[in-house]
Amino acid sequence: MNCFNHEDKTAVGVCKHCHKGICKECSEDLGYGIACKEHISEVENIEKLVSRNIKVNSNLPKNTTFTIYFYLFLGVVFAFFGYNSKGGVYDLPFIMGVGFIIFSIILFIRTKILFSDEKS
Ligand SMILES: [Zn+2]
Ligand SMILES: [Zn+2]
Repeated sequence: MNCFNHEDKTAVGVCKHCHKGICKECSEDLGYGIACKEHISEVENIEKLVSRNIKVNSNLPKNTTFTIYFYLFLGVVFAFFGYNSKGGVYDLPFIMGVGFIIFSIILFIRTKILFSDEKS
């Protein structure tokens, strides 16, 4: 592959934005990839966006884990007080408690599936 601008020069890579072959003279090495002189700012903006998305995603498991424990705790509290109340297991608090526990388990399984998807 030869440079898009110089037909006699071998391309060192392709611009991350327009995917045209560019020679050393036409390219700008940005550390994480190269860009042609026209698209330096475009490639930089994309890189910033991508690295920000990675940061947001890495925060996700922490938040989900908190939600799971929160519902599990809520479920146990409701179930405990529901079980000890007059209505026992047929009263609403106990049923709600069991519902919360089931919800947290479903959330836990769903998070696990999501993670194994990301890893593969
Ligand atoms: Zn370009
Ligand atoms: Zn060139």
